Amino acid sequence: MVKLSVNKLSDLGEFGLIKRFKRNSFVCNGVIKGIGDDTAVVHLSKNKYQLLTTDMLVENVHFTNKMSARSIGHKALAVNLSDIAAMGGTPKYALISIGVPASLSFRFLDQVYQGINQTAKKYGVSLVGGDTNRSGKIIINVTLIGEVKRQGLTTRSGAKVGDQIFVTGRLGHSYKSGWHLRFQPRICEAQYLVEHFKPTSMIDISDGFVCDLGHILRTNHVSAVINESRIPKRKGANLKSALYDGEDFELLFTLSLNNAKRLINDKVLKVYPVGEIVKGKPVVYLNEKNKSAILNGGYKHF
Ligand code: ADP
Ligand code: MG
Repeated sequence: MVKLSVNKLSDLGEFGLIKRFKRNSFVCNGVIKGIGDDTAVVHLSKNKYQLLTTDMLVENVHFTNKMSARSIGHKALAVNLSDIAAMGGTPKYALISIGVPASLSFRFLDQVYQGINQTAKKYGVSLVGGDTNRSGKIIINVTLIGEVKRQGLTTRSGAKVGDQIFVTGRLGHSYKSGWHLRFQPRICEAQYLVEHFKPTSMIDISDGFVCDLGHILRTNHVSAVINESRIPKRKGANLKSALYDGEDFELLFTLSLNNAKRLINDKVLKVYPVGEIVKGKPVVYLNEKNKSAILNGGYKHF
């Protein structure tokens, strides 16, 4: 029998690669959650956990040098804020590392930092350090540290059969419409949800609705049925782009049926109910289980 060898990153995929890193990583006692959620969670104090997350923006993957430098700076921090939001947390401190070509104008970088600083101020984040290097393309990596009350910690794990699935905003067409450069991370919305409705699980949508819902399903060994007519689409988006495009940075969360009913009638926060968690393999069904299409995919880096 011919044995196929897998040795290219494209064979393994982004998530296969992350699984490999996790397999060999050393983790000690204070780590509550390591690789595998929107942020890591570690011990902080009697009542609080610390949250740690990092995200890298790469020129021509997440932005181009034709886009507004201020907006690129905003995005670099906001994608990390979105991960802190997904855990129900409060952002605190940021470290920023950049790789830049020597030919880049320092005005461009000044504007990137204006964007970072403006967003940092708005969300109460202190910039406390970083690193600077030369590189062929512009790379901006932000590490963000936050906190969460122990009882408020919300992770990808916890969704149960019968739970209702919600998103916090319209989906799709983010990159082409420029939304990815101006979105506001759902920090306040997440904290309101955690305090009043206790989501059973939560994730931010960075790789596409179906892909990120897939993480919740695999973590909890359940299926989801999505109601096509309920998917909120951004202006210019069709169903396919709402389901699969990346970079929405909305929150996707699950609630018990009782809390879902309360939230639908809530006057403060407008959210969109899109489907239900059901028993079965970790796949997403469109409209009705067994009678309809199974959705696959999302943004893949490799
Ligand atoms: P998100 O889209 O929420 O930022 P990712 O899909 O990038 O999450 O990452 C999923 C998990 O894998 C996270 O826990 C993240 O910290 C971890 N991870 C991603 N890349 C690496 C890496 N190169 N080494 C170790 N852990 C990683
Ligand atoms: Mg995330």
